[in-house]
Amino acid sequence: MENNDRRKFIKKVGIGAAAIGAGIASSAVPAIAKKQKTYNWKMVTTWPPHFPMLGEGADNLAKWIDEMSGGRLKITVYGGGELVPPLGVFDAVSQGTVEMGHGAAYYWAGKSPATQFFAAVPFGFNAQSLNAWLYSGGGMKIWEELYAKFNLKPFIAGNTGVQMGGWFNKKIDAMSDLKGLKMRIPGLGGKVLAKAGGNAVLVAGGEIYTNLDRGVIDATEWVGPYHDLKMGFYKAAKYYYYPGWHELGTGLEAMVNLNAWNTLPDDLKAIVEAATYRSNIWMLSEFEAKNNAALRELIDVHKVQLKKFPEAVLKGLKKLSKEVVEEVAAADPMSRKAYDSFLKFQKNVYEWNKITEEPYQQLKYL
Ligand code: CA
Repeated sequence: MENNDRRKFIKKVGIGAAAIGAGIASSAVPAIAKKQKTYNWKMVTTWPPHFPMLGEGADNLAKWIDEMSGGRLKITVYGGGELVPPLGVFDAVSQGTVEMGHGAAYYWAGKSPATQFFAAVPFGFNAQSLNAWLYSGGGMKIWEELYAKFNLKPFIAGNTGVQMGGWFNKKIDAMSDLKGLKMRIPGLGGKVLAKAGGNAVLVAGGEIYTNLDRGVIDATEWVGPYHDLKMGFYKAAKYYYYPGWHELGTGLEAMVNLNAWNTLPDDLKAIVEAATYRSNIWMLSEFEAKNNAALRELIDVHKVQLKKFPEAVLKGLKKLSKEVVEEVAAADPMSRKAYDSFLKFQKNVYEWNKITEEPYQQLKYL
């Protein structure tokens, strides 16, 4: 009996192989011709050229796609301002001026407020949960639906991990200390600060230090110790607060013009997608590996005072954050859709993390 089954199986495999062989013979020429075509793309970014980790992430993404495709998809990377202004990336890729872009989805809140759910939500996901929502929890589908309206295909291509709360020259002991505070803090976090009576301002990266040093702004957030050390903020502010309640795991994005995407053969599409996965894990790993050494330097060498926001302040900010995000979700259908999915997944993942990640924090080896 067994032998008989095995023989039948071998026979089927044989027929299958013959059929596949026939397929190759009849369609080999066009498939190979398409595969041999070389594509030359441009990628514009919101980062200064080769900016540590973020701009490097864009450079690596292009390099890995080149390597994996055997040079069939070549992407030239442009820093912000080299080809289009940093905040012109979305339009340039959407309109097909260039094929690809690299940035963070919350920069495009003016195009659609829903974009913010795919970068950072105050008191929202960390990197692990954002990835789980996007890759396995339905988030990516909503992001694709949103970006398709702009003729774009999005990919998650990096993450900063938990950011820092920012640099201050006065102590934040209570919510009342945020009143009148002029702080550089973008996105939803800025809206929360405004609700707390503060004054959220947008300052381009290159001007933050000077503004802080001259007292044009009272406080600023940026990223985390690795970047903040390079920016020299410790020379202009003495208190370094944590945690970065407003950006607990900010996702970085790559985007491709849909017309350009549709010209690619399937293997190159798979390569682009695989390279974004690599980029995503590479960037988060860089942040996790390098931030603490920079923090030690800030504290030990530059005598920065590390401070945690008091519980009452975090509680107050959390309440206001919920109000802000609810208002965004109420304003348009795609934001509603993204927020509903976000909330459902947050409940799912928080329940699980309560008996996994939370106890893990008590089981530390050291
Ligand atoms: Ca930030």
